[in-house]
Parts: sequence; C-alpha cells; structure tokens
Amino acid sequence: MTDPNDRGKNGPKNGPYPQTISAAYGVAIDAGFGAVAPPIYLSSTYEFAGYDQPRRYDYGRSGNPTRDLLAEALARLEGGAGAVITASGMAALDLLAGRCRPDDLILAPHDCYGGTMRLLKARAERGHCSVRFVDQGDEEAFEAALADRPALVLIETPSNPLMRVVDIEALVAQAHRAGAEVAVDNTFLSPAIQQPISLGADYVIHSTTKYLNGHSDVIGGAVVAADRGPIEELRHWANVVGSAGAPFDSWLTLRGLRSLFPRMEQQQANAMAVANYLERHPAVSAVFYPGLASHSGHAIATRQQRGFGAMLSFEIVGGVPAVRRFIESVEFFTLAESLGGVESLVSHPATMTHADMGEEARGFAGISDSLLRVSVGLEAEQDLIAGLEKGLSACRS
Ligand SMILES: *Cc1c(COP(=O)(O)O)cnc(C)c1O
Repeated sequence: MTDPNDRGKNGPKNGPYPQTISAAYGVAIDAGFGAVAPPIYLSSTYEFAGYDQPRRYDYGRSGNPTRDLLAEALARLEGGAGAVITASGMAALDLLAGRCRPDDLILAPHDCYGGTMRLLKARAERGHCSVRFVDQGDEEAFEAALADRPALVLIETPSNPLMRVVDIEALVAQAHRAGAEVAVDNTFLSPAIQQPISLGADYVIHSTTKYLNGHSDVIGGAVVAADRGPIEELRHWANVVGSAGAPFDSWLTLRGLRSLFPRMEQQQANAMAVANYLERHPAVSAVFYPGLASHSGHAIATRQQRGFGAMLSFEIVGGVPAVRRFIESVEFFTLAESLGGVESLVSHPATMTHADMGEEARGFAGISDSLLRVSVGLEAEQDLIAGLEKGLSACRS
C-alpha cells in the first residue's frame, strides 16, 4: 500500500473538497494489485524486516492500515490533525475522560447522551475525576460553572432528544478563557453538516455507529484532535488500554463513509418534509427540529450548521395510550434505539433511551411520556409521511 497521505507533487495545495475525501480517500492506493477499493488488513501481527527492524506496523492493537485509513479520512473531514478509531462511541469518550486526573473537573451538558452521563458519573464515583452537568444554553449558568476551572468541557449539539442547539463558537471562547479544553460530540450531524474544530473546538467525538457508517451494522467511535500532540497521546493511550476499533469495522465504516454527503443531504431533506408535515398535524402538539423557524435553536443552527440534520422529535396528543397506538400502527419507521442509518427508526425516549434517568430527571430535561424521536432515513418522503399518517390517525381512535 502506498502512502495515501502523499498527494504527489501535482496534488491540490489545500486538499480536495470534503465530498471528495469522503467518496475517494484511500482509493486506488494498492501497490500490490492496483485494487481500487482499499483492501482490508485483518492480520493481528506483522513480519519484521529483519533483526531489530520493525516495519511501519508491528501489532494490530497499536496500529492497523485499514483503521489508519479511516482515521485519516475522518481527521481530514473534521479538519483535525489526526484521529483515533475506537471500538465504540463510548470508548471514544472514555479515551478523553480517561486522561483526566482526580482533581480535574469535566463540565458536561445536563441533557447529554445517556451513556455519556452514565460513564462520567461512574468515573467520578470511582474518584477518577469530578463531573458537573450544566445547562449550556444558559449563558450565566455556564459562566458560573467555569469558575470551578474545568479541565474539559464537553458539548453536544443538537442534543438528544429535544434537539436543543448551543453556540459552539461562543462556548469554546468562554471555556478557553477559563483554561479548559473543549470536546464536541458531533455524532448527530457528522462533519458533512457541522465542523466543530473550525469553530475552535480541541476535540471532536463520534459514535461512528450512527451517520458516519450509516448502515446500522457497526458499533464504532472516533476521537479527532485539532492538534498533533494530543493525538499522539490518545493513540498511545488507546494502545495501552486496548480500545482501538477492529479492522473489519473500520473497513465497513470507510465503505459507509463513501456516501456520507448524499445520504445526509437526502435524509435531512426528508426530515424537513416530515417536520413540516408533523407541525401541521392536529394529533401532534409539538415538533422539535432545528430546521423549523419555531425551534429555539433555529437561528444558531442556521449559522453554525450546513443543514439541520435528520433527527427530530415530537409530542403527540393523548398521552401514553396514544403513543402505544401510534407505535402499533406507524409504518416505515421501525421501533428501535440508535439513529443515523439509511432506514427510518422511531423510539420512545421515556421507555427506551432515557428510561434509566428516571421520571424526575426526565421531567427536568423536558422529556415527556408523549415524546417520540425519529431518525429519518432514505426512504421516499411520500412513504414516510403516509407511514406516519397511519400511526397518527390511529392515535385518535
Ligand atoms: C450513540 C451515541 C453515543 C455512543 O456511541 P456508541 O457507538 O453507541 O458507543 C455517544 N454520543 C451520542 C450523541 C450518541 O448518539
């Protein structure tokens, strides 16, 4: 395999467009046979060239060509200096959280991903670091929390499941003034729509399980760092703890990544159509989608995103009995957790993704029992709307 980073002396100075990186990074670099699709390297170990002569790769936990290809593609898409590919999104978060020392504070959003909250609380309980959850949309509360001098601020925007949007650039500036590093979980939008490093973030975290792979057949994660130093440290740490992603998963994710841009474009167009349909429906009392002018985050999202993504949530009239009837009757939306695949999914946060947090915390976060979340896929918009109509007309019966 020749080095895909070598664009040759005639290569573009500032690198190709992101769509090109996504579709073709690492294509046709196979020196052995001229394979167009990058080959997969499953080998756990590598032959030394001779006595005391290791080659570029020696052992699969510390490095793998397939995994490195995905890492470099993601780093370029996010505009970072490098990336580490991990076995899951949680492993990516833990790679960052694991660097913290007992006197370090992590400041996380009050409505962050449930698994993230569980991980940070578990680390804090064991004395590995301390953690505080704050409403980052409340400027005064955020500024007050920064007085505690956090080492790391974690941002998630749009949030799950209400799609609250926060201003990354403003929060990063505040956090940097207080001496904190900033990581943004960019899972809900992908670099096709939002690039936190260009807004000042030090790290981007992904659950590649979602849009980056996009086909609901891999669990994976990534940390992208803006600077070279931290990426070396994170790569070292991933080798120490053994949390690197598997080569086959990396290969599948790279395959999924090829169509990231057209998928995102079509899925968010479908989501906009679904949101407009839901907003006018009498059986729906609220729709949470940043693409709607009625959404609290619409102005910020318009500024900091290249689109509004394909995740949305809505409340239906009639409480739990109506939710049950909707779920029994809706078509083309499969009842399942997760998101970001080519197929549309519906979930009920109160009994699924957000069941663990308890009723009181859900109330505080604004997650009612009537709330449904959808991940809008690539199906025909007309089918998706017809499928929702089946569900919503059953609500009233
Ligand atoms: C799914 C998800 C994670 C966790 O990723 P896994 O791949 O499931 O470990 C983290 N953050 C967000 C926003 C997610 O949606």
